Amino acid sequence: MRQVNTETKLTGLLGYPLQHTLSPLLYNCAYEYERLNWCYLPLPVKKADFSDALVGVKALGFVGVNITMPYKETSLQYMDELDSFAELIGAINTVHIVGGRCIAYNTDARGFVQSLQHDACFDPTHKKVVIIGAGGAAKAVTMALASERVSQISVLNRTLQKAVELTEAIEKNYRETSVCAINFDHELESIIGNADLIINATPVGMEQDMAACPIPTDSFHASQLVFDLVYNPPKTKLLQEAEKRGARIINGLGMLIYQAASAFEIWTGRPAPIDHLKKVLTEAIGLKGRAK
Ligand code: NAP
Repeated sequence: MRQVNTETKLTGLLGYPLQHTLSPLLYNCAYEYERLNWCYLPLPVKKADFSDALVGVKALGFVGVNITMPYKETSLQYMDELDSFAELIGAINTVHIVGGRCIAYNTDARGFVQSLQHDACFDPTHKKVVIIGAGGAAKAVTMALASERVSQISVLNRTLQKAVELTEAIEKNYRETSVCAINFDHELESIIGNADLIINATPVGMEQDMAACPIPTDSFHASQLVFDLVYNPPKTKLLQEAEKRGARIINGLGMLIYQAASAFEIWTGRPAPIDHLKKVLTEAIGLKGRAK
């Protein structure tokens, strides 16, 4: 059994609430597999205590922390340095503490692209994309896709104003990509039918809401890839409908693993055991499902 001692390097997750997080399992398995004397702790912290908690992890000599909801955007003000992508997205999920300074990254963006390329073997260059949602994850994913030179991004969001703000931010930074902001009142069939890649970046279809599907699926077809950022359940209603119509499908498990692998690499300086983590998480999600 792994021993925690005075030499153990500390990492963890700041967010609230944290009951459902898989991150401690993911990182601790990676540390154990790589025989590193490192440890990852869930650190639930309420809003009023967030800045003190950050001072605390620095004082305790933590190597780094992940930041999750609801602090991905509000924590920016406490950082000493942002990597260029985190600055562009305006949200962070990984902090590396070096000499008492907080250097922040957004690894969601690169996690998404790595999963798209390695798990789905999909080259996004010059492709047409529809993304549902305009929150933190949608921001990271669309900026990553624009930097991969997709030809078109349509942002479909319940709150139109947020879709407009996101498309304006893409337009400002990536002039090669044409953008369009729409809400659910729009005629969706042709926009969805013309897309090469359709992404769900909303929580619709998660385990609390498994019968729900975020968009009409009648115009899905075999030359499309449908990517659901949700990974629990592994096959959401959206992915089931897409599969029925012959589209290729992928869930958010790979993205979750690749974004954690990037953080692992930033902190430890070595590659993460991706295949091992895929196995561990697939099993963990299967067990959670069976326990219900
Ligand atoms: P967020 O910032 O809270 O944004 C949520 C988005 O979903 C907003 O655009 C919101 O629309 C929309 N939405 C929420 N409920 C909806 C509903 N009932 N019907 C239609 N739209 C709805 O959340 P986030 O951080 O972007 O996360 C979004 C999803 O991605 C979550 O399921 C999260 O677990 C998943 N995610 C997965 C990974 C991964 O590694 N696989 C990483 C990050 C996030 P409004 O603007 O109208 O409120």
